[in-house]
Amino acid sequence: MAELIIDVSDLLREVGKELEIKMSKEFSPLNLGTREVKFAKLVDLNLTLENVDSGVLAQGTVEGTLILQCNRCLKEFACPMKVKIEEIFCHPSKSQELEESETFPIMDERVDLAPVIEQAFLLVIPMKVLCNPKCKGLCPICGKNLNEGMCDCPKQEIDSRFLILKKLLKK
Ligand SMILES: [Zn+2]
Ligand SMILES: [Zn+2]
Repeated sequence: MAELIIDVSDLLREVGKELEIKMSKEFSPLNLGTREVKFAKLVDLNLTLENVDSGVLAQGTVEGTLILQCNRCLKEFACPMKVKIEEIFCHPSKSQELEESETFPIMDERVDLAPVIEQAFLLVIPMKVLCNPKCKGLCPICGKNLNEGMCDCPKQEIDSRFLILKKLLKK
């Protein structure tokens, strides 16, 4: 997992202090367990870190273009996504008090934004995606991507097979 370490030592000196994070970063592919999802280009960060006493609050948006695979035609396509970030980084001692809510740690006056951003993208990746709502999918007979043109397979193939079966059953 890639890291995106931000030094918050200055921020920690004063409650209410803010730090703007505007940058474009390269991210490694997201791990979805059974598959990986790559980013097509750099991820744009537009975040504000704020010292909220109990920790450092990270808020803002992150924009990235993910390479997803169409569920119908299996083609890969670029899908731009904008996700909201709202997470708190806590000092290890304070995060223990907040047992229930999952927080990210402040370590040596530094925070790692990478896991926060990766988690935010993972939450918005749909299980099933289409390259286009009108995607025609693949021909069930030859496997051709029908978005790229029709194939020569007879359209009634399945019906005629069914008719043969019917004839056989009658005998
Ligand atoms: Zn498709
Ligand atoms: Zn075909």
